[in-house]
Amino acid sequence: MDAKTTTFGVIGAGQMGAGIAQVAAASGMNVILHDISADFVDRGLAIIAKNLERSVTKGKIAEDEKKAILGRIQPGTDLVGMRAADFVVEAASEVEEIKFGIFARLDEICPPHTILSSNTSSIPIGRIASRTKRPDKVIGMHFMNPVPVMKLVEVIRALATSEKTFQSTVALAERMGKTPAVASDFPGFIANRILLPMINEAIYCLYQSVGDRESIDRVMQLGMNHPMGPLALADLIGLDTCLAILNTLHQGLGDPKYRPCPLLRQYVESGWLGRKTGRGFYSY
Ligand code: NAD
Repeated sequence: MDAKTTTFGVIGAGQMGAGIAQVAAASGMNVILHDISADFVDRGLAIIAKNLERSVTKGKIAEDEKKAILGRIQPGTDLVGMRAADFVVEAASEVEEIKFGIFARLDEICPPHTILSSNTSSIPIGRIASRTKRPDKVIGMHFMNPVPVMKLVEVIRALATSEKTFQSTVALAERMGKTPAVASDFPGFIANRILLPMINEAIYCLYQSVGDRESIDRVMQLGMNHPMGPLALADLIGLDTCLAILNTLHQGLGDPKYRPCPLLRQYVESGWLGRKTGRGFYSY
């Protein structure tokens, strides 16, 4: 966004929301980090403090800078606090009803100039925008995990997104040190339209005993030069999020090739969500 943007709202203080808040604060903006309870916000702030401490130890930033970045992040549990925000990124759980509710409320709370963006991995932005009376100011801003490390931001233009909103979002991504790639508004956009079918196929390979988890990951790491195998990556993303994305691709595109592997569904239903619960395809 233009230089006038000083207050940046982040909804959801999970792994993505915390990362987005950290990068926004590091680029000089004042940040409001919101979640449904103080415990969740504190957990997000602890992730940020730990990341920054690591940067201090590595000599990438000074102790003073760490304190200044943390000082620019204000915690919140009442959505009404977002009335001070010029730009909001929603990074709550990948559940359509949750996002619809948040956008309808933000539309009532935020001033007319505020751009409302979603970090959704897969849900069409137009569907979310239709819950507001400002669809021209609704856009997708899809960061990659881990946010402080990954350069890409996928910017998703819905049918009603205005040119001004799009240009402001691209400028904001660049101000945060990110490189945008533009996608149009179909389920999964570009990143997860390509990534999740690959992860799903890796899970099918495990399900059908084509290989064990180590072999599957090793083939993609050493054979295809991927920095991480697909099963380890699924654990990092969160298996609940992977399943939600595949369901959106499957239902939204109507093609059976996107059907989620039953093994993924079984893991999620058993509470094995990957790193965040300590158990997924691997144990943590
Ligand atoms: P997460 O489970 O780590 O965090 C989600 C957070 O949202 C939780 O802290 C939860 O309490 C909060 N939340 C739930 N309902 C809320 C509400 N009504 N109001 C405010 N906060 C609420 O999930 P995550 O991995 O951080 O993913 C968040 C979003 O980012 C999802 O839309 C996901 O698809 C997307 N995303 C995830 C990744 C990834 O690799 N995990 C990458 C890119 C985008």
